[in-house]
Amino acid sequence: MTLFEKIIARQIPAKIVAESEDWLAFHDISPQAPVHVLVVPKKVITRVGEATPEDESLLGKLLLATQEVARALGVSNSGFRIVINHGRDGGETVPHLHIHVLGGRPLGWPPG
Ligand code: AMP
Repeated sequence: MTLFEKIIARQIPAKIVAESEDWLAFHDISPQAPVHVLVVPKKVITRVGEATPEDESLLGKLLLATQEVARALGVSNSGFRIVINHGRDGGETVPHLHIHVLGGRPLGWPPG
């Protein structure tokens, strides 16, 4: 099981923000901003570049989930950023697709 599958299965604790039948949103253990939440599909897609056309609807649901998280944590109006890291140069460390939702402070651009 991936680390995130264990969180989804409640085998590892996490601070859960929201959940649907398709995804789980929980606070990142090492937050890089006042709001830093991960939105993770319950179906394992290893990384975004390995998603298939079959995943089209799920990918849309994950994006919509980021709206819900931003609203729930009060950063919808102030602004937020979503990030997906793919592979070594992208900074991916957990091989289970996840969308970072970051907010609560001005975020620099370009990212490091
Ligand atoms: P990435 O580097 O894009 O693969 O993101 C993986 C993220 O998972 C990092 O931001 C980690 O801080 C986070 N992370 C790792 N372990 C946990 C955990 N047990 N609970 C919550 N977040 C975690």
